[in-house]
Amino acid sequence: MYTSLSELLEFLQDNDVKFIRLAFCDLFGVQKNISIMPGELPLAMEQGISFDGSALPGFMNVESSDLFLHPDPATLAFLPWRPSTGRVVRFFCDIRYPGGSPFEGDGRSLLRKAMADARALDLSCTVGTECEFYLFRTDQEGNPTRIPHDQGSYFDVAPLDKGENIRRQICLTLEEMGIQPEASHHEQGPGQHEIDFKYASPLQAADNLITFKWAVKVLAEQNGLFASFLPKPFPDRPGNGLHVNLSLFRQGQNLFRNPDTNTHSRTSEAFLAGILRRVAECTAFLNPLVNSYSRFGSFEAPRYITWSHQNRSQLVRIPAAQGDLRRMELRSPDGTVNPYLAFALLIQAGLEGVADDLPLPPSCDLDLFQAGGDADYPALPQSLGQAVSLARESSFVRSVIPARTLEYYLKIKEAQFQAVLNAPDGGAEEEAALFA
Ligand code: GLU
Ligand code: MG
Ligand code: MG
Repeated sequence: MYTSLSELLEFLQDNDVKFIRLAFCDLFGVQKNISIMPGELPLAMEQGISFDGSALPGFMNVESSDLFLHPDPATLAFLPWRPSTGRVVRFFCDIRYPGGSPFEGDGRSLLRKAMADARALDLSCTVGTECEFYLFRTDQEGNPTRIPHDQGSYFDVAPLDKGENIRRQICLTLEEMGIQPEASHHEQGPGQHEIDFKYASPLQAADNLITFKWAVKVLAEQNGLFASFLPKPFPDRPGNGLHVNLSLFRQGQNLFRNPDTNTHSRTSEAFLAGILRRVAECTAFLNPLVNSYSRFGSFEAPRYITWSHQNRSQLVRIPAAQGDLRRMELRSPDGTVNPYLAFALLIQAGLEGVADDLPLPPSCDLDLFQAGGDADYPALPQSLGQAVSLARESSFVRSVIPARTLEYYLKIKEAQFQAVLNAPDGGAEEEAALFA
């Protein structure tokens, strides 16, 4: 689109851009932004725009609070839901200290490091996410209720499916933002939907997921609805999953299952084995809410640390797919993750498996939902409290997430767990309102 700052400024002027959003995520994957006028962009590009890091939980303390946002030019996108004159664009930003060194709480920089570590082993990954959500009605004041927008179920059509227009708007919006939608459908739960978009590099995939969630929330609101990514809105209905599809490449060659020979490369087996070895330790980052743990073990959400080719009751599925689409699908994460931290951890766990040439345990071809009782497999943590303890004891997690950031994250997660534990009803609702 442009190769220099002056070209970029010209592009913005030609397109009647009046506001520039500088976006980033806090430690918990919640998007934040500041709006600057185009005249400030040269300063932003050259020196960064400062903000108060102490105002965001887990970032900085009040004594040394200055952090700087440095727009990543590759992430320019229009915000189609804002006015069509005096338009608004968005950049994702890297976060740096006043001296210019990367801020260790910035998930983008941790994910970039994971990508660089992969390159050092002559490997690269792509990531594709499948993110589910519910649409709820709002009350007369516009506040969310827990009444689903419709009573539709898997793949239903209108009039049972009342979400066709809003899914259409979301797909068209994503397209305008440079994200390629691929498929959309009504999911199993009442008012539950899924929209899948094209895989990308890990960093782009994380940015895209944040953009996707934003578009879904905004468009739902414009339609008088409330979109919720809460992992388990109802105890007896399907939860909202975030399936993370990972492909692994060496010199342009996809290393996952070759459908002609039905074999995996040794490297992809070790990568998957690495993820299986560390997934329990990473679960506080893959399933960050107290509510996340109610989702496991029913309605196609996994409970055990197992893998298989087709079976959707397993933690990892290796779907039948060809070419670049060959991949592993991790089914435990949910849409409340900080995707930068989650993907960084998963990639590093896979790379560690490759470095150790870790053997892959045999596949599990049982239907674990039908197996009844407790199957004899290692299980995912059963509560946020358990997940936090595992992360705290993990030398692996400590090798990926810098000490201070990790300490903040786990401290806050532990406090959330205790709060809900001590006030089961009030606490759970409060968590849902904050993060859903
Ligand atoms: N909603 C299910 C979950 O909680 C996943 C259903 C599907 O396979 O799409 O993970
Ligand atoms: Mg789905
Ligand atoms: Mg899936």
